[in-house]
Amino acid sequence: MLNRPIGLLIALGLVLLLVWSRLGGGSTEVARTALIMGTLVEIKAVGGDEKDLEGAINDAFSAMRQVERQFSSHLPESEISRLNQTDAALEVSPPVFKLLQQGEEIRKASAGAFSMALGGVKKLWAIEEESPHIPTTEELAVILPPLNQPAVRFEGERVRRSSARVKLDLGGIAKGFAVDRALEILRGAGIVSASVNAGGDIGLIGGHGERAWRIGIQHPRRQGELLATIDIRDRAIVTSGDYERYFERDGVRYHHIFDPANGRPATACQSVSVLAPEAALADALATAVFVLGPKKGLQLLERFSNVGGVIVDSKGNIEATKEIKDHLLWR
Ligand code: AMP
Ligand code: MG
Repeated sequence: MLNRPIGLLIALGLVLLLVWSRLGGGSTEVARTALIMGTLVEIKAVGGDEKDLEGAINDAFSAMRQVERQFSSHLPESEISRLNQTDAALEVSPPVFKLLQQGEEIRKASAGAFSMALGGVKKLWAIEEESPHIPTTEELAVILPPLNQPAVRFEGERVRRSSARVKLDLGGIAKGFAVDRALEILRGAGIVSASVNAGGDIGLIGGHGERAWRIGIQHPRRQGELLATIDIRDRAIVTSGDYERYFERDGVRYHHIFDPANGRPATACQSVSVLAPEAALADALATAVFVLGPKKGLQLLERFSNVGGVIVDSKGNIEATKEIKDHLLWR
């Protein structure tokens, strides 16, 4: 009989071999994690030389950190913070310009449900801080930016906040954008199979070896359980949920996705997952649909090509677009 440590080594070898053979063709897989934008980001890359994969993953993390430096409203030197500190129009870098434009498009398409102007509201609630605060209607009334107005105006190559009440916060779209940047770097390094997961904002290159990537969608009310899984390649899937960042007081859940109409946590949904060609689009749409609720939310998703979604409404009813139904495996 084998002694135990050797038996264990052989068993481990078998497991590794199984993983290896599932990927097929002599593929290696490298997985690394890093803390970026306050989120644990995991990047997996498959195929080729381990050192090359590792180098590409490190470059992808650097690109995501760069996005954080440009977009964070916590960092006083970021371009977004600089815009928040002045009423003047400022020249911004091309990625900041582009993402602000995309955010404005989603704002318009969602009739104002997606808003990059809620930095003041977010600060007042302090949902993610140690002592969150439930604001009064009066407190909200004096800081709420006007609904259905752009957050920023574009003046040539410059950008300006549209009013003093606007405190820019790109928390609803920047993480997805960072995922897209990471994918761009990985593709540029010749990687044909990879996943980038920034706390539920997921972007994929190719499949996982021969198969599609299998992605789990978290059940919004049963911690650690999946609502469904989805098999996809070359896509992004992003979830917005009221279970991600919240506090409870007197049995009421106060979470981090606000309805721009009243500055309070949106009440129509428990979670929204959006499938799209790019993570920034999926990210913004997931937040917008969460605010709009299932009926208007589905209508919004159906206006975009190659976009689908799963919506769990406030009562736990599940709705899905035609596009995504074929890909889902219910749990
Ligand atoms: P997500 O987790 O992508 O749904 O984004 C939530 C984050 O986006 C929040 O933590 C805020 O920073 C910001 N946010 C909150 N409400 C909205 C909204 N209605 N539209 C756009 N961004 C929002
Ligand atoms: Mg979002």
